[in-house]
Amino acid sequence: MFTEERKNKLADTLKKLADTLYERIRKNPAHRMKCPMCDNNDFKLADAYLRNDLQPDLSTMSLGGMSIPSIAIICSNCGFISQHAVGILGPLPKQLTPDEEFDQAFEEAGRK
Ligand SMILES: [Zn+2]
Repeated sequence: MFTEERKNKLADTLKKLADTLYERIRKNPAHRMKCPMCDNNDFKLADAYLRNDLQPDLSTMSLGGMSIPSIAIICSNCGFISQHAVGILGPLPKQLTPDEEFDQAFEEAGRK
C-alpha cells in the first residue's frame, strides 16, 4: 500500500502531531494522562490518519466529501481510542489526486 519512504514520512508527521498534542495537554495544570475508561497511562499512536467523513444526512452515505482527518491515540490496556483533529494540531495533510498519487509513487520508485 505505502512505500517505505511514505511510511517513514507519515510516521514522522504523526509523531510531530502527537508531540504537539502532548505539549498542549501538559500545559493544562489539571491534565491527567490516563485512559478515561481504565486509568492506564500507556498509549499507542495509530500508524495512519483516521478519516471521519461528514454526512449531509443519515439516510444516505457519501464518500470522498468533506471529512475531519484525525490522529488516534489508543490505550494499550483496554483499546479506548481518543481521536484528535489534525487541523487543530498542525497543517492538514495535502490531499493528492489519483494522478498525483501515481506521479509520487513513480518518482519514489525511481529514487531506489
Ligand atoms: Zn484504557
